[in-house]
Amino acid sequence: MKVSKEILNLIPYSPGKPIEETKREYGLDEVIKLASNENPLGPSQKVVEALRKALPDLHRYPDASCYELKQKLSRFYEVPTDWLTFGNGSNELIDLLIRIYCESGESILTSDAAFVAYGICAQAARVRTFRTPLTSDFRFDLSAMARSFHDHATQEKIRLIFIANPNNPTGTYVTDAEVKKFMASVGNRDDVLIVFDEAYFEFVRANDYPRALDLVKEFSNVVVLRTMSKVFGIAGLRIGALVARPDVVDLVNRVRNPFNVNTLAQVATAAAIDDSEYLQRVQQTNWQGLDYYYSALKNLGVDHWPSEANFILIDTHRAANDIFEAMLKRGVIVRPVKIKDPATHIRLSVGLQRENEAAISALKDVLKELPSIK
Ligand SMILES: *Cc1c(COP(=O)(O)O)cnc(C)c1O
Repeated sequence: MKVSKEILNLIPYSPGKPIEETKREYGLDEVIKLASNENPLGPSQKVVEALRKALPDLHRYPDASCYELKQKLSRFYEVPTDWLTFGNGSNELIDLLIRIYCESGESILTSDAAFVAYGICAQAARVRTFRTPLTSDFRFDLSAMARSFHDHATQEKIRLIFIANPNNPTGTYVTDAEVKKFMASVGNRDDVLIVFDEAYFEFVRANDYPRALDLVKEFSNVVVLRTMSKVFGIAGLRIGALVARPDVVDLVNRVRNPFNVNTLAQVATAAAIDDSEYLQRVQQTNWQGLDYYYSALKNLGVDHWPSEANFILIDTHRAANDIFEAMLKRGVIVRPVKIKDPATHIRLSVGLQRENEAAISALKDVLKELPSIK
């Protein structure tokens, strides 16, 4: 059978290495996974209770419209219910947006070192990905993106612009002023949608972080994505939210599978957003962990970037895969990332304090063991 070159050349998304696999392969009793930006506290007890109550009804199909959840989240996000829909993780929403708005041969625009799902979903839909370079401080360069859009939009048919804010794997963000300027240049157009992927929204501390939900009200062509995987600690249930004008939401609802969001994901999310105490604990744990990483990495003299998310990007100046392997041997799973050639960066998620300390201690040993390549 003939399959398109885009499909044949697809490199599957590589998930963080699983804990059990690492234990088996390296003969370890304890393994710490800091590779997938998961919530180290586990889900809220209120979520676990709500899930237990929902179990006897699992013979029923899920509510295809997520009615109850939509009512609740519309109050939480302060948007009308018909401005909201859900996906099987925000990953599915990224995939759906590309399938809806891009024809084969058309393009999306994002940045170098952007969240990898954009490029993978685009390629699977035979859609090309244009990327602008990062700024020198490893942030999305919105001026360059606006310029690139205006230079190439007609010829390359750029239909979607993806801005991960904060971005994964860099942890950096774009400011309110930068976004305002960007929207003045690309806002309210009917030939392109601007997608703000806010997977790490609740972890942000910067006070010049933009309010993308307000942009959905101000501009006709803005989409905001949120996920329940990170701050709410339910990555295993797969649910993400999309906020946009009703015309966009309507198209997503036509194309998505009717039961793309399962019953337990709906129940868990409704319980999670009510538990503000849990949310605060998650934020405090994360911020203390990040501050610990900053000071520990500074003491070690290791290059890193300030993060508004629940992970930190580190330049080890060693081959990233060698660092990854050496850390694995010490029972710590990190994520090697390729930002330049050769790849020397790793991404380290924030865990519990003892996990963070174990990671730093392993990193310290590993950096001594492996020679610097710079
Ligand atoms: C983790 C992440 C997502 C969310 O993925 P889910 O499919 O909702 O689990 C989306 N965008 C970015 C930038 C991420 O890092």
